[in-house]
Amino acid sequence: MIRFTVRSLSMNRVSRMPEDRVAALQRRRLRALVGHAIQHSAFYRERYRGIDPDRFELEDLAPTSKGELMAHFDRVVTDPEIRRADLERFLDDPNNEGTLFRGKYIASHTSGSQGQPMLIVQDRGLSELMFGLQMTRGNARKPTPLEAARRLCSPARLAVVTLKRGFYPSATVFQAIPAAARPFLRLLWLSQTDPDVIDRLNAFRPTALTGYAGVLEELALEAESGRLRLSPELQQVVSNSEVLTDRARARIQAAFGLHVMNNYATGECTFLSNGCRTDPGAHVNADWAILEVVDADNRPVPVGTPGAKVLITNLANRTLPFIRYEVGDVVTMATSPCRCGSRLPRIERIDGRTADTFWIEEGGRYRQLISSVFKNAFDYAREVREWQAVQVERNRFSVRVEVLPGQELDREHLRRALDRQLELYRFQGLVSVEVERVDRLGPDPETGKFRRIVSPIGPPKDLEQRLRVDPAHPGPIPSGVTSRGPRRAGSPGR
Ligand SMILES: [Zn+2]
Repeated sequence: MIRFTVRSLSMNRVSRMPEDRVAALQRRRLRALVGHAIQHSAFYRERYRGIDPDRFELEDLAPTSKGELMAHFDRVVTDPEIRRADLERFLDDPNNEGTLFRGKYIASHTSGSQGQPMLIVQDRGLSELMFGLQMTRGNARKPTPLEAARRLCSPARLAVVTLKRGFYPSATVFQAIPAAARPFLRLLWLSQTDPDVIDRLNAFRPTALTGYAGVLEELALEAESGRLRLSPELQQVVSNSEVLTDRARARIQAAFGLHVMNNYATGECTFLSNGCRTDPGAHVNADWAILEVVDADNRPVPVGTPGAKVLITNLANRTLPFIRYEVGDVVTMATSPCRCGSRLPRIERIDGRTADTFWIEEGGRYRQLISSVFKNAFDYAREVREWQAVQVERNRFSVRVEVLPGQELDREHLRRALDRQLELYRFQGLVSVEVERVDRLGPDPETGKFRRIVSPIGPPKDLEQRLRVDPAHPGPIPSGVTSRGPRRAGSPGR
């Protein structure tokens, strides 16, 4: 426990270190990871043929993708005892929830909302790293030895509300609290589908509340109605996994009177960042992870510019190495230093996933319509509880709207807001949008995640041939934009 405390507090000091010292830490860990992968993984040995583990640059390493890692899973993992077939059997059995795969690995899978789920194994020791980061860099209160001592006398009460039970990374990591962290923390783990969520939360009186943005927004409504009573003990609200819209943030903040800390992470790297304690973004844990914001061709984009995707390197998972692993999220890094005092690179915006975009047709070519067009419009529709945009035909959309209890939909106001956004992004006259009022919008029954962006018709089959690259829109970034040698996110200088 003392070792955990000292280690965690020293982790926090890294966030105030000069960039070059963090970069040196990052480089040392990357070399160790790549060396280990080349030695113990047949897949990476082949992939990095010709790479000298003691002398290479990050850019020398070819990116990896989910499809590849899943196809070669047994050759990717560095422990030959791990077999994909055994892992799948383990994950198929709900009785294994809360237990370790082969007695030593935390096993999980990503949700299918991004296509094929990725299977993940990591050493149980990694949960100590994740909890250490959560309790220091991801803490609304500044971590000090005094604060740690105070926590021993009065442990934090953390309530985690997930959408449903299962082997989702955000759930499994919380199930594996390291013994060393237990004296500091009491945990209540709930699923939104549990019948008595509100009563149990009221009884538990959490000091910290963590959940998906959609779940937190529902709880905010319960707090507004007076059923959920968490003040004044609640000190921290953390949003995970889903994109936190400006509207959801405002509603949660108003209901609980607290700044919402917005974590950005993926199942492949659950400690990628911690939500900032003063500002809307999240700080990349650049000593343990590398986040590269890149265009469609893996070239870095300048800070302040949205990328087409990100490449993530998890420097701590040696069992299943994720090195320059592609994730289709649209991320923008901040250009200015942060008010909170952390010097770690800050993610300014997470604009949804590339799966959160539609492809529409204009003059025989395809153009991306990002979900922000709808999202921004609904930021002004205060009477709306939830919405969902469905692409009915290539250039025709139906927006389904669920209104808050006791309120009326102001159709004219919403229409104007939608038209304004369509005009702003130059889609006016190009696409038609109908508004449809529905009684209830719920999560996707398959994945348990709520989807605001639904495209039953999907991307066009001849997309690559008829792609229109448009610099005015986040998405594929045209060449030339990156020529000024931007700083790579998550890699603070050299
Ligand atoms: Zn900050």
